Amino acid sequence: MKVIRNIVELRAELKQYRVTSNGDGRVGLVPTMGYLHEGHASLMSRAHDLSNLVVLSIFVNPIQFGPGEDYETYPRNEEQDLALAERQGVDIVFIPQVEEMYPTQTMTKIKVSEVTQLLCGASRPGHFDGVTTVVSKLINIVQPDQVYFGLKDAQQVAVLQQMVYDLNMNVEIVPCPIVREEDGLALSSRNVYLSSEERKQALVLSRSLFEVKGTMDQEESVRASEIREKLISLINLSPLADIDYVEVLTFPALSRINDDVLLNHITGKLIIAVAVKFGKTRLIDNLLISPKEAVSLV
Ligand code: AMP
Repeated sequence: MKVIRNIVELRAELKQYRVTSNGDGRVGLVPTMGYLHEGHASLMSRAHDLSNLVVLSIFVNPIQFGPGEDYETYPRNEEQDLALAERQGVDIVFIPQVEEMYPTQTMTKIKVSEVTQLLCGASRPGHFDGVTTVVSKLINIVQPDQVYFGLKDAQQVAVLQQMVYDLNMNVEIVPCPIVREEDGLALSSRNVYLSSEERKQALVLSRSLFEVKGTMDQEESVRASEIREKLISLINLSPLADIDYVEVLTFPALSRINDDVLLNHITGKLIIAVAVKFGKTRLIDNLLISPKEAVSLV
């Protein structure tokens, strides 16, 4: 496994790979902010399935954090990250410093509209501009065939798919399923911030999501507002939970669903998404469902 910290060297290494593989080798990129866990590892395994050379990037991207967010305190542990990457058979780890990615003040930003309006886009103004800008830069640097992202950040997947489509980027976005702890909590680098009591109560996210999914499986005619209200009351049973948003939207368009529409009449996918703060830690989780399938399982 090669550890590369600058762009020129990374490009030279990839150029060499493309020459030796006669242009046949598919390059897969797994962008992360480090403090790696099994969720990240699952993206690397998926990358091995579809790509021949796996490039992992580790970069805590300052421009996707808002004022007062946790950029400074975001957990970092390079040694552990490299050990996990090695275990996952990653070929190249790209770990740039901030000055390497942003040597001068950024004057160009990529901004995706519409799909960035609700959910985390509404709670974290400017966040997705930072994400789309850094991912475009990484795509330009690595020129991968595939880029792997987790559905833990489902809105991020929707935004990046739109960006790649709109800008004719010659790359496939590969969405990967959410990896959870045995008790249901979605893995996240930010889970280390939780106190033991917050960690216990944080289970309310996955539990309530699965409970409303059960309701949708059993009841033929539910509306988005009913699911939303049920989720809010379930989450509020945990005294430490401070709800940021609870939404039921179409996916990947991320549009609101009118209350005269019964969810089982929707043909496409839906996302049930939540963001909840426990103390200073903001956690997100979601379920993607196809209502028609859900009903036909009954
Ligand atoms: P991050 O380091 O938090 O920016 O995440 C890097 C990538 O890993 C993103 O595509 C995330 O969606 C993905 N990821 C993070 N947590 C999980 C998880 N629990 N399951 C699947 N993918 C995840």
